[in-house]
Amino acid sequence: MTGGGLGGSLKGPGKETESLAQVWVPSRFNLPVDLPRRRKAVLNTFTGALVVLAAETWRQHLASRRQFRCDQAGAAEDAALLQSQGLLVPQNVNELDVVRLHYLSENFSDSRLGVTVVPTLACNLSCAYCFEGTARTPGVVRAWTKRREDQVVQHIASAASGKKAMDICWSGGEPLLAIKTISRVSSLLIPACKQAGMSYSATLLTNGTLLSRDVVGTLEKCGLSYIQVTVDVPAAEKRDRRGRDTAEAVLDNLAFAARRIPTHLRINLGRDEPAEFDRLYDALIRRNLHQHLKRVHFAHVFVPECGPRGCGFAAMPYPIYAQVSTRERRRAKASGLPVDDACWPEEIGCRATTRHSMVIGPDGLLYKCPHDVGLAERSYGSVETGTPTNLANLVPWLMYDWLQYERCAECPALPGCGGGCPHLQRFQPAQFDAMRYCESFLQQLRDRILDRALDAESPQSGVLRVITGKAQPRGGRA
Ligand code: SF4
Ligand code: SF4
Repeated sequence: MTGGGLGGSLKGPGKETESLAQVWVPSRFNLPVDLPRRRKAVLNTFTGALVVLAAETWRQHLASRRQFRCDQAGAAEDAALLQSQGLLVPQNVNELDVVRLHYLSENFSDSRLGVTVVPTLACNLSCAYCFEGTARTPGVVRAWTKRREDQVVQHIASAASGKKAMDICWSGGEPLLAIKTISRVSSLLIPACKQAGMSYSATLLTNGTLLSRDVVGTLEKCGLSYIQVTVDVPAAEKRDRRGRDTAEAVLDNLAFAARRIPTHLRINLGRDEPAEFDRLYDALIRRNLHQHLKRVHFAHVFVPECGPRGCGFAAMPYPIYAQVSTRERRRAKASGLPVDDACWPEEIGCRATTRHSMVIGPDGLLYKCPHDVGLAERSYGSVETGTPTNLANLVPWLMYDWLQYERCAECPALPGCGGGCPHLQRFQPAQFDAMRYCESFLQQLRDRILDRALDAESPQSGVLRVITGKAQPRGGRA
């Protein structure tokens, strides 16, 4: 998705607005980082533009409380570039209002349907931090019947009416326990989208233990743009129900799967054990996965609201996670792994607050956030026709105000962070505070800006230049 700077409309820079603006000021969403040789890298967290410029240019145009007039002699070229990337904005525009409008238009856009499908909550592993699993509603349905599959397809098809694109995310439990359901439902949705002139894309989140060659062959027909496989540090977190280590078997599976289907590797950071990271990187490279994986990223695992072991998991404190993930991103990259180099520490975009998104649980119930699946009292409806909508469970998500938190008003990370994950904010606010999230989030952002800018070093360093052009982020994380 692309969008314009604040000089124009939400859909793109409007020439008429740009020409009307006379006085420009630095955006409140500029986040600067010092670079060697008296330069700065500046990320605008609303437009997503990352610009490297001389410290002198920063002082001239972007240092706080500066103002710049369009008709000011001699400054036009640099300023025009900074305006075009959203680093300079018209003085008379309220940037918070523009961000709010952007969130609203994104959240109520009619063009895409996003569906997270959870065909089963069952899993063959027993990770301590899992927010699904055995502690959910007793008697919860663990896999779909054929009738349920048909209801789900009909519900998705009906919700997709008039849309231009459908995005499916297969999740669980361990979704590959329901590979037949994934195959059957995909074989109905893909041609239906084609017939309706709608684009179809799908992703799948898995622990990788069941990615046999046969399963990969089946998945190749399921329209997946990528699969995400999760491994843990320490590896022992991912044991099967008999207590056996699964790490080597998962990497063996990946050695085949990553050649056939684009594969992202998510490394969950449970504890800081440097020898374990080295072992993992060696094991990946030994299998040539540094050449075949599309992306490697590190993730924090936090204490779930309701996990399988009575929430007894001790998460790595977020500030420690922030330090370890920066260090390991750099080390993994130096080892040749395809480490994600986006400026944002976490994936941007919260489906729960989007009008045309839903999560379908194994029980056929509809939720907004995947973290609620299995908690029937949080569902807002069902795929069964004639089921009334429970507005009390739907409206708070759609009306969620990303800009409601006082602490965020002056924060330069607000457009992408949006005050943090709404599920955490709504149901585990104490944990959000205890995480000391903000300071560490901003530090990670700065570390990533620095790395990204240094990676883009060129002989012209020091000249004003755009490393990544504007591409507005959405609020929150998924
Ligand atoms: S939650 Fe923290 S990091 Fe996020 S926008 Fe608010 S103040 Fe900034
Ligand atoms: S960002 Fe939070 S609330 Fe939104 S979908 Fe993800 S977990 Fe749920």
